[in-house]
This record gives sequence, C-alpha cells and structure tokens, in this order.
Amino acid sequence: MMPVCKRCLLADMDADGVYQAIQRRIAQMPEEQRTDGETYRQRLACCRGCDALVSGLCRICGCFIELRAAKAAMHCPHPDHFW
Ligand code: SF4
Repeated sequence: MMPVCKRCLLADMDADGVYQAIQRRIAQMPEEQRTDGETYRQRLACCRGCDALVSGLCRICGCFIELRAAKAAMHCPHPDHFW
C-alpha cells in the first residue's frame, strides 16, 4: 500500500510504477490536447499548496493530479477553481 503523503506529487514519492505509468499516458496524449509546459508547472504548483492533494491524488475529483493537469481542457474541481 502506498504511504499517505500529504501535499506530495507522485514525482515526490516512492511510487515509481504509478509515476512511470502516468508519465507514459501523458506522453501518449496528442500534443494539441496537452497542457503547455509553463501552464503545467503552474497547475502543479497550485496543487502542491492545496489541502486536497494527498498522495498524488486530488481528494475532490479522485484524479492523479499530474495526469489531470496535463490535459489542457481540464480544470481544478475545487469550488474556487485554483486553475
Ligand atoms: S482541488 Fe484543485 S488545486 Fe487542489 S489538488 Fe485538486 S486539482 Fe489541485
């Protein structure tokens, strides 16, 4: 079982298999559907400061944050829409 790691992304945890799988999914996404690099970094920075981030997952939507943030059409599900 993965340890609970509050305010950590998968990249920060010892969860290599999941992290690599997520990175492969992102790499396979059509480029026009992918968030540009700067926006991606800004989204992840918002998530790192958010209480809803737990073990790489958003407690509100249940998504892996690194995958959700990589999809350009996605938004933050928080009522305050952090991104
Ligand atoms: S609520 Fe928004 S900012 Fe917070 S972890 Fe989820 S996606 Fe990220």
